[in-house]
Amino acid sequence: MSTSHEGRADRADRGTDGAETSARTVTCANCGRTNRVPAAAQGTPRCGNCRAPLPWITEAGDADFREIAEQATLPVLVDLWATWCGPCRMVSPALEHVAERLAGRIKLVKVDIDKSPGLARRFEVQAVPTLLILDQGRQVARQTGAAPANALRQWVDEALSASHGSADSASGRPS
Ligand SMILES: [Zn+2]
Repeated sequence: MSTSHEGRADRADRGTDGAETSARTVTCANCGRTNRVPAAAQGTPRCGNCRAPLPWITEAGDADFREIAEQATLPVLVDLWATWCGPCRMVSPALEHVAERLAGRIKLVKVDIDKSPGLARRFEVQAVPTLLILDQGRQVARQTGAAPANALRQWVDEALSASHGSADSASGRPS
């Protein structure tokens, strides 16, 4: 039973190749294997060992938002936050839990508005945190200000089912 021995895992945290834009290390909740998840990729990240979907949590700025958020093939939860914002520090872990629970269904992209003035202007950010849900680059939901974790979870669930409901309407026709 040694067919899975590949010796690739040792290279996971060296990251000196520099081929990808940026990658972060994610431990698979299903099997415990450490995986490198790139900031931008086709489809959704899966565990190299057991193929379970991995939570996709990344950061973007003015320069790479298009590639990382708008070109994603799954819905994107955008967290527009600032380092000086106290409520943001409570909201961010709640959003990370949402991204973990909805692994394979949503991508979480964090944007520091002080480093990304272009995005702050574009999304007309008046207060932080401002949360957006984008589907193929189109804004389908928006929420401003902090909210309890369960309220955030419910908001994301409703936004996801609403954006998918419209896409499914064509297939539910009786013949
Ligand atoms: Zn796994």
